[in-house]
Amino acid sequence: MHRRITGKLVIATHNPGKLAEMKELLAPYGIEAVSAGELGLPEPDETGNDFRSNAAIKAIAAAQATKLPSFADDSGIVVDALDGAPGIYSARWAGPTKDFTAAMTRIERLLQERGATTPDKRKAHFVSALCVAWPDDHLEEVEARVDGTLVWPPRGTAGFGYDPMFLPNGHDRTFGEMTSVEKHGLPPLGLGLSHRARAFVKLAEICLEPR
Ligand code: IMP
Repeated sequence: MHRRITGKLVIATHNPGKLAEMKELLAPYGIEAVSAGELGLPEPDETGNDFRSNAAIKAIAAAQATKLPSFADDSGIVVDALDGAPGIYSARWAGPTKDFTAAMTRIERLLQERGATTPDKRKAHFVSALCVAWPDDHLEEVEARVDGTLVWPPRGTAGFGYDPMFLPNGHDRTFGEMTSVEKHGLPPLGLGLSHRARAFVKLAEICLEPR
């Protein structure tokens, strides 16, 4: 049985961008979002082997610490020709200074080394895993992806992370060339295109009720 989220929800992130995005997405459902950062919760080590377990580790740690239902996400980019790298290590590839130009350059160098020069050999997808954990150990988990091709050089200055290299299937602009509403926005305003938007729609279907 799926469980509905009502009242307060802890957003287990210390990333202000993610918090703002979630507050916006949750507002129509009358959910009051408070962040792990605001509550001074520590960030647990992401020791899982996949996106889903890392999202669960973060959500469970926050639910146990606060005794409130808690939400967490984990995401990254999976490149076919690199056997799935950087995957769950997507943030780490940018290093402590969050240098995504360096991370994208590293991907491109590895693609060149493997002869991945044509679009059919440069397939990648973003993954978003979302988890809501309750203090009694109940979990709701969803995962979604968006498929595309990696372009070089990077295009566009919008977005973050690997956006300027990622051309979603069926589109002629990279995520770096799209507005945030186009990329993450839910219909009718946005396209519901991103992995996070798609995962959120799935979570809303099972856990949220519009006001
Ligand atoms: P997380 O905070 O552990 O989920 O790290 C996710 C990492 O994956 C981010 O730091 C980005 O490098 C990358 N990533 C996830 N989603 C996106 C996206 O929508 N655009 C670009 N990069 C992303």
